[in-house]
Amino acid sequence: MRTLVMAAALALPVAAQVTIPLFQAGKLRALIFSGRNNHDWRESTPFLRQLMVASGRFDVRVIEEPAGLTAETLAAYDVIVLDYNGPRWGAATERAVEEFVRSGKGMVVRHAAAYAFHGLPVLGDRHVRTTIVEPAWPEYARMTGSAWSLEDPRTGHGERHSFRVRFTDRDHPVAQGLAPEFWATDELYQNMRLRPEARVLAVAYADPKMGGTGKDEPVLWAVAYGKGRVFHSTLGHDLAAMWEPGFVTTFLRGAEWAASGAVTLPAWIDPARPQQRRTRVLVVTGGHDYDTSFYTLFEGYPDLAWDHAPSNREAYRRDLRPRYDVLVLYDMPQEIGEMERQHLRDFAESGKGIVVLHHAIASYNSWEWYSKELVGGKYLLQPEAGRPGSTYKHDEEIFVYPVARHPVVSDVGRMHLWDETYKGLWISPEVKVLLRTDHPLSDGPVAWISPYPKSRVVYIQLGHDRLAHIHPGYRKLVKNAIDWAAGLR
Ligand SMILES: [Zn+2]
Ligand SMILES: [Zn+2]
Repeated sequence: MRTLVMAAALALPVAAQVTIPLFQAGKLRALIFSGRNNHDWRESTPFLRQLMVASGRFDVRVIEEPAGLTAETLAAYDVIVLDYNGPRWGAATERAVEEFVRSGKGMVVRHAAAYAFHGLPVLGDRHVRTTIVEPAWPEYARMTGSAWSLEDPRTGHGERHSFRVRFTDRDHPVAQGLAPEFWATDELYQNMRLRPEARVLAVAYADPKMGGTGKDEPVLWAVAYGKGRVFHSTLGHDLAAMWEPGFVTTFLRGAEWAASGAVTLPAWIDPARPQQRRTRVLVVTGGHDYDTSFYTLFEGYPDLAWDHAPSNREAYRRDLRPRYDVLVLYDMPQEIGEMERQHLRDFAESGKGIVVLHHAIASYNSWEWYSKELVGGKYLLQPEAGRPGSTYKHDEEIFVYPVARHPVVSDVGRMHLWDETYKGLWISPEVKVLLRTDHPLSDGPVAWISPYPKSRVVYIQLGHDRLAHIHPGYRKLVKNAIDWAAGLR
């Protein structure tokens, strides 16, 4: 097989060879088993994947048809994560999973995966929605250190509520250094049949007022299986339950421990308050209307934190230098107060970054510093010094292509979009043009780096409305511009 691939590669001209990276270097390799569950795996699996990726520790794949996969499939991975509750996988796959863990790899079992494979009724076989009962997979109970039972006392849960999860074993790597308790807002599984090999790490009191047993019920446990490690969390009924920092922290640390035997992740991981450094952006609007889809340009990036000022008075009422790394201008005012003017200049002169979008090239037509020095271009609202006024046209079909190698256009490439064109701009001969169009109602340059020497300034002409705002190429262009302006690229 390998030889064949090599021979084929050698037969190709050098330029046609491609490198396909199999995994990201230095990360633990995780495979999430999904695709069947009585819970919404279509929501939970992408969320778990995102948590794992955002932790920086894992390279993650997902399999939504686990039945039939082989030892060869698993060989490259360090840990498998079961977000699965459905039919059995067949002898070959089950043996492969047992051998995978036994040989020294890891497995994470979460929430409803506790129900699977114990010989209980399962809704739906591989193709249709019917109740089926399959014989139990006894080795699964050994691996996970537990089983679910419908006999008295029946395994299940009371009413979903907020409860405290308390560590009972703080020597285990997953629990070391963590606060003694955390909140869960979740189902609290009770009457799980734990086996002696399960090492319970945390419990929660199952309050009878909520339909609980009145006992401490195990919530997190670890199992040694052969040379391998299994981490079991009964938590995570839905996205809101999985949003709890206690769930996130223990799930990620549990996965890291199962994969590697050690834990390096922090003692508290809150998805609502990411720890990583974020570029602080102030977005300025005012003087021109716009679609609210504009705001989505700044959403979905864990490394970006943005504030919004709806006028230049609001934006520049104080010194911005200690507060922001990048200004994004999407405004079009003509007047600006003395103090505000000074704060904008101070920010620019301090070497911070500025991204000027679309109609912001028409701001402050009579402030030379803004057009000539900062932006390197100007939309002429009126004829000026013998030049006619600039013109615009909405809803044009535009083809745009990069004309420079630059971080702002990295991975942007050619774009085809519907947007507004501008023609007859004054553009400084000193700008470094990044993108052009041949559209007859547009000037050629549609994105450039300003020659302004004191800070990084990008102008992007595109971006009139929703059709541009939601275009993946435009989104990338704006994010690249922010990153470059912040000095990150
Ligand atoms: Zn549930
Ligand atoms: Zn416009």
